Parts: sequence; C-alpha cells; structure tokens
Amino acid sequence: MSLFHFPSDVRYACQCCGACCRDTWEIRVEPDAAERVLAADWRSCCTIDSKEDSPFKLIKGNTSVLTFKRHDDACVFLGEGNRCRMHERFGIEIKPFVCQRFPYRFVETPGGVYVGMSFACPSVLQGEGPLVADAPAEAERIHAINQTEHLHVNEPIQLDKTLNLSWDEYQQIEQTLDAIFSHEEYSVAHCLIAGHAWLSMLRRLMRQAGPTALPFFIKQTTDENFARVFKIAQRPVAHGALKRMLLGSFLSFRNTLRPGQSRLFLIPRLTFANLRHWCRWGSVPLEPLDKCVSYKNFAPSHELLEDAETQSILRRYYRHALFRKELVQGTDLFWGYCYLVLVHGLIEYYAAGLKAAGEENPARAIQVVEKYFVHHSTFGRTFLYHPAMLLIFQRVFDRPNFAHTIVLG
Ligand code: SF4
Ligand code: SF4
Repeated sequence: MSLFHFPSDVRYACQCCGACCRDTWEIRVEPDAAERVLAADWRSCCTIDSKEDSPFKLIKGNTSVLTFKRHDDACVFLGEGNRCRMHERFGIEIKPFVCQRFPYRFVETPGGVYVGMSFACPSVLQGEGPLVADAPAEAERIHAINQTEHLHVNEPIQLDKTLNLSWDEYQQIEQTLDAIFSHEEYSVAHCLIAGHAWLSMLRRLMRQAGPTALPFFIKQTTDENFARVFKIAQRPVAHGALKRMLLGSFLSFRNTLRPGQSRLFLIPRLTFANLRHWCRWGSVPLEPLDKCVSYKNFAPSHELLEDAETQSILRRYYRHALFRKELVQGTDLFWGYCYLVLVHGLIEYYAAGLKAAGEENPARAIQVVEKYFVHHSTFGRTFLYHPAMLLIFQRVFDRPNFAHTIVLG
C-alpha cells in the first residue's frame, strides 16, 4: 500500500467547463487507448466528417504519437454541455490515460505518493469544490490506472550541481520555503525573492561547512522569522531592461523550438532577441495567445498581480508547486527554484498580454503558464539542456538581484 499525501488547501470538483478538451491541448492517445477506441463504435459519438476513417491525427511535430482530431477547436468527442460523448457512451475506461487522470498528477517519492493537481483546470485555479484531501478514494483510484506514467523523485536530490541531499534534508528545505510563502504579511513577490535569497545563502553555507550547516541555518532563520531574507527582498535593486531581455529571449527560445524551426541560427537569433527586448522594439511572442503583443500596448507590471484575489491564488499555486515537487522534476533544487521565479515573470507577462487582449482576470495567466511552461510541459528541462540558454541563464540565476529583477523589474 502506498502512503498518499494530499495538499491541504487545494480544491477540485469538475465544473464541465470543457477547458481540458479545447484550445491548444493535444491529448496524447497511447496505443492501447487507440485500439480501444477503434474497436468500439466511435463514429456514434464523434463530430467527425463522415468521409474520415479515423478520429486520430499525429501530434504536431511528432511522427508516432497520436492525438484526437479537432472540430471547432475542441476534441471531436466533446459534446453538449461540455461532456465527453465517448465517456457517456462507453464509460471512463475507454478514454486515454491523460483524459482519465486530469487534473491529477502523481509524484512518487521516497516518502510516498504526492497528489498534485493542475492549475490549468479552472476549478483547481479558483479553489472551487471540496478539498482534494476529502476525496482520497478518487485519487487512489486514478493513481492505480497507469502507474508507469507517474513522475518520480529519487535520492540523492541535488541542491545544485555540487551538493547532494537526502530525502529528509530535501523535505526540511521544502518545509522552510513553504514557511516563507506562508508569510501573508508580505506579497507573493517578496516571498519569492526571500526564498531565492534564503536558498542562495544556504548553498554558500553548505559549500563551506557541509551538510551539518542545514539544520543550523534552518533553525537560525526560522527563529528570526526570516527577518533577514525579507529585508533583502525589499531592497530596490530590480533591473527592468534585464528582465525584458531575459524573459523576451526565453519566450523567443520557446518559439524557436517549434517543429520546422532551424536551430542553426539559434545563438544569433537569441542575441538579436536580447537586443530587441532590451530596446522595447517590435513585439512580444506570447504563444499560444492568438497574436504577438506590440511593445507599444504591452505594460507588464507587478501591480497587475497585486489584488487580493490574485495574490491568494498565486500563494496557493506556489505552495502547491513546492508540494508536488516541481522544483526537483529532473533539475537540481536551486535551478528548479530559479525556474519558478521565471514562471512568475511569465505570469506577469501573460497577464499583461491577456489584458491587452481584453481579458480582465489576471489569474487566467497562471492557467496559461501552467499549461504551456510548467505542469504540462517538459520545456523547463529542455531549456536546461540547451547550451545557448544554459550559458545565459546560469550566469543570471546566481546574481543576487536575479529574483528582484524578474519579479519586480
Ligand atoms: S478543465 Fe477542470 S473543470 Fe473543466 S472540464 Fe476539465 S477537469 Fe472539469
Ligand atoms: S476524449 Fe473526451 S475527455 Fe478526452 S479530450 Fe476528448 S472529449 Fe475530452
């Protein structure tokens, strides 16, 4: 029997909004599920053109993985009231694994199974429905469907490229970062910067004094209620042009990785992107939003995320990112935390882009970024292994004002 851990503050009840079956989702259909669908009378519950002989197509840029064809930008099985007609006709078991699992995602660790939830789901994002922790049987049922697909965190866990941690040590760090985020008298932006300062100090100390420094540092900073790192977080050292350059290059790199784009000219292209974003020239590519946003209409600011409701959602989001082990999904902990800081910059950028397109709810930006850069994307890791980006970002992650710049620049 696995030991399950549930988030204490995440709620979910499907509202049948259809968001997970629409827009840019390319649902991965595993071979077994494709066979199940083809063996059933799939035409009876599908909006497909009668001339077509299959409900599948290949995922963009992939020569072997199937997804469902689309009709009006939705999966061909999506029916009235945003209900899955295939599910209604044949039962949940016929659907691909990702359809059965969403918005759950499980992380297997040395300490048990952590039940992670996707903030791309509007119900999870807005905190609607009962606590996930109150429906353990549902999570355990979904967990049992296909255990080979779960994420794993194994010992040793790296704090950075030179320092290894045991599972217990990692947990102590995660709990301390969570304690920093739970300081509601500070904005989420200041908590993110304080966390970066705390981890940077811990790395320096552990490099000098070894693993014994960890409990000492945790005790000392907890006893002073993190006063020192929150004081650092409030220093006015953010750099707006550097932020534009970093996030602009990051977004340009994301688009460069699209199928069909040559990597030959990546470095010159990134250099040009750096320059362009430094000077606020041209537009900002915010895929998958419909169009690029011109710098003239683009006004990102940390103030966009400062209303009480967005702060509350963001705080829940970052604490849940820690809980579902987002910081150590294939990266070292320090890199994972710096990526989380970048994610905050992206959320602000997407909030500004959505606002320019007439969207009033800034929290929608969390949904887009979660889907496109975090929980449903391997981009964070791909970017880590690309030498051109590694070169740029390794330098800036270590800068003492990195988090200030991304969060408040
Ligand atoms: S996005 Fe969430 S609430 Fe909407 S249909 Fe999917 S699971 Fe249900
Ligand atoms: S098969 Fe059903 S649940 Fe899966 S994407 Fe299509 S409509 Fe949604």
